Amino acid sequence: MLMENSIIYTVRGPVTGSELGFTLPHEHIMVDFGGAETAGKHRYDASNVIEVMQPYLQDLLDQGAQTLIECTPNYLGRDVEIFRILSERTGLNIISNTGLYNNQYLPSYAHDSSAEKLADGWILEFEHGIERTGIKPGFIKTAVNPQPNVLDLKLIHAAALTHKATGLTIATHTCTAVAAEKIVAVLETNNVNPSRWIFVHAHLEPDPSRLITLAKAGVWIELDGLAWGGDAEHAQTLLKLLDKGFEDQILISQDAGWYNIGEENGGNIIPYTRLKEEFLPLLRKQGINNDIIEKITCFNPAKAFACRN
Ligand SMILES: [Zn+2]
Repeated sequence: MLMENSIIYTVRGPVTGSELGFTLPHEHIMVDFGGAETAGKHRYDASNVIEVMQPYLQDLLDQGAQTLIECTPNYLGRDVEIFRILSERTGLNIISNTGLYNNQYLPSYAHDSSAEKLADGWILEFEHGIERTGIKPGFIKTAVNPQPNVLDLKLIHAAALTHKATGLTIATHTCTAVAAEKIVAVLETNNVNPSRWIFVHAHLEPDPSRLITLAKAGVWIELDGLAWGGDAEHAQTLLKLLDKGFEDQILISQDAGWYNIGEENGGNIIPYTRLKEEFLPLLRKQGINNDIIEKITCFNPAKAFACRN
């Protein structure tokens, strides 16, 4: 598949894979940890969020990045109108999502709805845009517990159905290989190729041999916790994956940001600039050449988030 032919939906409309450039595949602009019962636009002042977050995005852009993938799901702080304004003002591509998180961040209807019914709602967001904005989601975001429960796996089933109807990639907050293996089983039962799924927070799995097994099954291994330290551990896991020949299935990001709703001016915000400033020099020091770095930071995200079945 040529990058020029692949389509990815940003909050300002579709772009081709080659237009993504240097991409951070897992970051947050705004998060509301209040829970699904209270979440909503009444909880924050959009103009303050924009004013606070714009300089952080500008710093990232000034480093040469072109795309930020915003991984905050609905009921947890997803506001595509804010993202569109920030994208228009800075020129940075921002990609949002459809789907749902887990536990207290799930609205009550998610407990009672079937996977098919949940998928219908997500497909509608893709076809008509999110919350009457006309803005399409660029991927499907879900989350599971370290030991996924029945409800978690129902949401994965809904994500599989949504993927088949839309071609959107699925990214799941997963953390453990045991959860990843259960997710892959649900995807395969629904005839979704594991290569259309991203194992989010894969760096938290302590056993690299299990990551290798999952990579062999075709999944994307996302090492995305650089905002929280552990650069050496991220690099070690990445080197092991490279050593086994999986350079085409690695994504790296920071999980940085964000405007924390409920805190004055968003509280303590972690900049988006660490990956380029600290982690890439560390990789170069360990002998990883620029071709590989370009593949992992530009080409792989374009391939991973391409909208296709
Ligand atoms: Zn995250």
